[in-house]
Order: sequence, then structure tokens, then C-alpha cells
Amino acid sequence: MIGRLGGGEFLMESLHCCNLEEFAAQFVLSEKRLIKKQSTQKRNQELYIGLVRLHVLHHAAQSPIFGLGIIQELGRHGYRLGPGTVYPLLHGMENRGWLRAGSAIVDGRRRKTYAATAAGRRALKTARERVRELYEEMFEDELS
Ligand SMILES: [Zn+2]
Repeated sequence: MIGRLGGGEFLMESLHCCNLEEFAAQFVLSEKRLIKKQSTQKRNQELYIGLVRLHVLHHAAQSPIFGLGIIQELGRHGYRLGPGTVYPLLHGMENRGWLRAGSAIVDGRRRKTYAATAAGRRALKTARERVRELYEEMFEDELS
């Protein structure tokens, strides 16, 4: 049985807790076991998910985006993410106030669209500075 705690999955049956410390230790153990079972692709996805959010926000600030369109755009950049990942991600970004949902006809079909809100644009502005800083640090040798 798979349970959820703090956004992460863990194996319920492996948790026979007596006190909080033991529970925490078992939680970490079961999480490690679960991570071991994940594919490299799934593990790396967690590493890049912030970049994916910024990528989405970047495009949503230019013009409204929709699920399938952004899946294709991310694919173009080497992110192989399916609707099961991207739709909850868009929803999460809407709930955090960075995106606003709307609707539009795209290629003859009504699509749910997302556009960056004022808060999303502000967050993007700050994020751009951080990306620049990280970029410069990561490519220090190549840039000088
Ligand atoms: Zn792009």
C-alpha cells in the first residue's frame, strides 16, 4: 500500500511506529527504498521540476499556454513529461497564484489555457536573476 506524506510517497506497511523518532527513521528508510525503485528519468525529473516550472512561467508570461502545447514545447527542450505530470503542475501553479486559467479555441478545439498573473510575473522577474546567477556560476570557466 502506498501512502502520501508531505507530497512524497512511502510504503505504509513498512511503518510500524512506536514513537516519533522511530517513525521518522522508518519513513526515511521507506522513502530511500522507494527512490531506489524509481527510474533514473523519474529521479532526475525531481531535480529539474523547478526549471520546468520556470520554463512554463516564462512562456505563460509571453502568451497563454495550454497543456498539450506546453508538453510539446518542453519536449522540444528534452523534457519528456506526460499529461499526468504537466496537468497537476499547471494546477499547482494556478493554486499558488502564478497562473490564471482561461479558455480559448486552439486548432478548432476548446482548450483550457493558462496565463501568467501579476504575481507570476513578479516571481519570474526574481527567478530570472537567480537563473542568471546560477548560469554564470555553472559556466564560469566557459564564460571568462
Ligand atoms: Zn521554451
